[in-house]
Amino acid sequence: MEKLSARINSLAPSATIAMNQKGRELKEKGADVINLSVGEPDFITPDHIREAGKKAIDGNWHHYAPVAGYPDLLKAIVDKFKRENNLDYKPSQIMVSVGAKHSLANVMMCLIDKGEEVIVPAPYWVSYAEQVKIAEGVNVFIDTTVENDFKITPQQLEDAITPKTKAMLLCSPSNPTGSVYTREELKGLAEVIARHPQVYVITDEIYEHINFVGGHESIAQFEEIRDRVVIINGVSKAYAMTGWRIGYMAGPDWLVKACGKLQGQMTSGATSIAMRAALEALNGDQSCVSEMRDAFLRRRDLILGHIAKIDGVKCATPGGAFYVFPDFSAYIGKSVDGRKIENDMDLCIYLLEVGHIATVPGSAFGAEGCVRISYANSDENLEKAMQRLKDALAALS
Ligand code: PMP
Ligand code: GLU
Repeated sequence: MEKLSARINSLAPSATIAMNQKGRELKEKGADVINLSVGEPDFITPDHIREAGKKAIDGNWHHYAPVAGYPDLLKAIVDKFKRENNLDYKPSQIMVSVGAKHSLANVMMCLIDKGEEVIVPAPYWVSYAEQVKIAEGVNVFIDTTVENDFKITPQQLEDAITPKTKAMLLCSPSNPTGSVYTREELKGLAEVIARHPQVYVITDEIYEHINFVGGHESIAQFEEIRDRVVIINGVSKAYAMTGWRIGYMAGPDWLVKACGKLQGQMTSGATSIAMRAALEALNGDQSCVSEMRDAFLRRRDLILGHIAKIDGVKCATPGGAFYVFPDFSAYIGKSVDGRKIENDMDLCIYLLEVGHIATVPGSAFGAEGCVRISYANSDENLEKAMQRLKDALAALS
């Protein structure tokens, strides 16, 4: 008899990964599917980073690595925070894990106790809410809308905090909306957090470099809450290294130490070869980062131009990441050939089966009626995909 734990039974599968898989399966059957579902750069890892990976293989980096990461990689991360964010960390405040998703999971497991509340601004990245559940915490969502650029206000944050609040999550630039908080907006949130000494901030800055509105701002810059902020980041998005699986956290010593204890029992150090490549990514030539960012900006404008021409669709202009998050509610309830679109999942399945474009339903991110479209794809595919989107929507009445 199958007897899974209640923990795993309460967990929803990752919708981003599921839609990616559905797109792949249809493609394997011969359909010309354009995949705008999973969020990962379409670029390949830059040459100098690949070379560092090859050198690590030939240089015999084949043994278990230290759990927290190689000392020179920890130093490279410390230097990155100083150089790019003007933040001072010691190596003992940094830990490398198997992707930023793993860093986040470590932090959740080490910080959240059963029944403690975690504030999650919605729309949120799919894994936040599920990781809070694995840690037996309670999600407290703060809703935002396209009209306010999907950002929470200090008042909303204040109202959401209770004596049970342990942490809040922040993601800027955001997955799935692409919105980016300004320094002033973060200052407003930091002032609220400063008044509640039991609340920690987990700030996911994985899209830091895919930013079209100027410099990246971190909530960790505000001294009064600095010792209660944990930054999550990694090399997946900035350096097109999603498959290498290297992420990292920066935070208070005691929390990093606890995460090291957990990781030491669950997985050990991250892959040696991938860590050597990540070292080159952080210390090497950075021109690849701005080249990829420029390509994403061009594609954002391409896709926004098309979406603006679709009737009844509301769409914010994202300041970063590589997603648009249009509101397609006007198409929910419509039909074609006896097929009724009851919700955003139906819409995404219809777009996949009929339009052959894979996207992710907004409800997976806590925003019913929206659809996440990743534009980390070639200009040519995006043009084709937008035509298919328009045709598929126009067929609905
Ligand atoms: N946070 C956000 C907001 C993401 O979009 C992703 C990408 N899946 C991650 C974390 C995890 O990134 P990684 O590939 O480093 O695990
Ligand atoms: N960040 C990506 C996404 O949101 C990767 C998939 C995942 O890890 O969930 O689509």
